[in-house]
Amino acid sequence: MTEEKSLNFLEEIIEQDIKDGKHPQIHTRFPPEPNGYLHIGHSKSICLNFGLAARYGGQTNLRFDDTNPTTEETEYVDSIKDDIRWLGFQWDNERYASDYFEELYRMAVTLIKKGLAYVDDSTAEQIALSKGTPTEQGRPGPNRDRSVEENLELFEAMRAGKFPDGSRTLRAKIDLASPNMHMRDPILYRIKHAHHHRTGDAWCIYPMYDFAHGQSDSIEHITHSICTLEFIPHRPLYDWFIEKLDIFPSHQYEFARLNLNYTVMSKRKLLQLVNEGFVSGWDDPRMPTISGLRRRGYTPESIRDFCDRVGIAKRENIIDVSLLEFCIREHLNKIALRRMAVLDPIKLILTNYPEGEVEIMEGENNPEDPNAGTRPVPFSRELWIEREDFMEVPSKKWFRLAPGAVVRLKNAYIVRCDDFTKDDEGNVTEVRATYLPESRSGEEGSSVKVKGTIHWISAAHAITAEIRLYDRLFRSENPAAEEGDFKDDLNPESLTVIPAAYLEPGMADADPATKYQFIRKGYFVLDKDSRPGKLVFNQTVTLKDTWAKEVKKEGA
Ligand code: ATP
Ligand code: MG
Repeated sequence: MTEEKSLNFLEEIIEQDIKDGKHPQIHTRFPPEPNGYLHIGHSKSICLNFGLAARYGGQTNLRFDDTNPTTEETEYVDSIKDDIRWLGFQWDNERYASDYFEELYRMAVTLIKKGLAYVDDSTAEQIALSKGTPTEQGRPGPNRDRSVEENLELFEAMRAGKFPDGSRTLRAKIDLASPNMHMRDPILYRIKHAHHHRTGDAWCIYPMYDFAHGQSDSIEHITHSICTLEFIPHRPLYDWFIEKLDIFPSHQYEFARLNLNYTVMSKRKLLQLVNEGFVSGWDDPRMPTISGLRRRGYTPESIRDFCDRVGIAKRENIIDVSLLEFCIREHLNKIALRRMAVLDPIKLILTNYPEGEVEIMEGENNPEDPNAGTRPVPFSRELWIEREDFMEVPSKKWFRLAPGAVVRLKNAYIVRCDDFTKDDEGNVTEVRATYLPESRSGEEGSSVKVKGTIHWISAAHAITAEIRLYDRLFRSENPAAEEGDFKDDLNPESLTVIPAAYLEPGMADADPATKYQFIRKGYFVLDKDSRPGKLVFNQTVTLKDTWAKEVKKEGA
């Protein structure tokens, strides 16, 4: 964050609060529900909450909002911690809403004693019906005026497991005529005889989100509780609990959630993709999850940069995924090691190059980084080149190989194409060329000017690797918006596997932590499916935004 940038509305509020002495030290929290893996939308909230605390010398809690025992798992807790650390943030305190179950229970008792909560014997459907509609006020149920004693007794019995699931609830007694539906005697506790990932079987009643969230903030003395816009109508209830319980006055602030096109970003939907086998797991490189992006080769820097560029809005919007791709290209261009790989090979034979001879060429590791050094690349008579770098009948402005044409082989010689062979089906199988011995890269004496440079791999030295290319997971910009099943919009061509591409031999020692640019092909990273002798690479992103071009072409 640079100093010249104008403050966003949260920074303005915080600076004012610090200036006024209202909150000399701010305290934020990131409150995920451990019911799935984090996605890129969460990274916006993480960068915001941790970023604000860091900027203003405050603290950030990681709080697991684990009040729903049936969907939450320890696996998710662990993955969330991994992802936050990987993004580059460290929480000051690790907390769980479930740590507060006893305290929340006491708060509920306090409300009962104040005549502000009651046990309702109605079913969920009856409660929903009696709540009315936004234009029609709710009706009190038969239990609304139960005595404090009876409510205390029943609530205790609820906790003691005397009643079956769904048979009773504890509700706040607020205002059945409120224009805000959340204020019409909201449910505070429901009965659920379910095992909780941390409290085990200690509880069979669980607090609702609204009853747990604000009070957890308050217990932790969170000064600025930042959430997304859909919680605006919950704020009066958030404030009501704090006022009636007379506890630390945390305050809720809302900003627009991050939406990205060509994907879905709800854990519930992402879970469906995982469970129904549309992707290989939460960390499938096509997923918008942090773990998917990491496996795809995204860097924490690029995601933080993306969140920074997106900024903080107060109105819903959809961000173009090409901005995310722009951010990763920017970063990888600076750090990726340049290597050569041929994805769709045809043979190029240099007929005048001595058989059996090998020269070691020098390739720059990264022209953007003067300290990156060079690597040796073996060169010989038979090479692999990309099929698409040869054209039998060249089009205008074709600067690559074609009969009679000259090109430079990257880091090596200039070659002139002489002829080629085709198989019965008309596919080119072999291209033959003559090399110009005096044209070796880095040496003087080459007078031939060439317009094209292509990459290559010495056939005798090549190693093979599986390469996975990715496209958008969904065909439509906003799959979630359409009627019907969002999964009908999945892009059937989101994954292309190249079983055996050719790589330069040094790639046998590829390191999973290193980012690579396969020259002219894009950025790649070693995948965790790799085994000794069987390397697998993921394409992180292409070198250019080919998608934008396609769309333009289609539209034209
Ligand atoms: P999902 O619908 O994907 O499950 P959620 O909001 O239910 O998302 P939580 O685990 O409750 O997920 O979210 C933790 C925090 O992250 C909350 O403060 C939430 O507001 C924030 N958050 C979730 N999704 C986004 C998003 N797309 N953009 C910004 N913040 C988000
Ligand atoms: Mg949620």
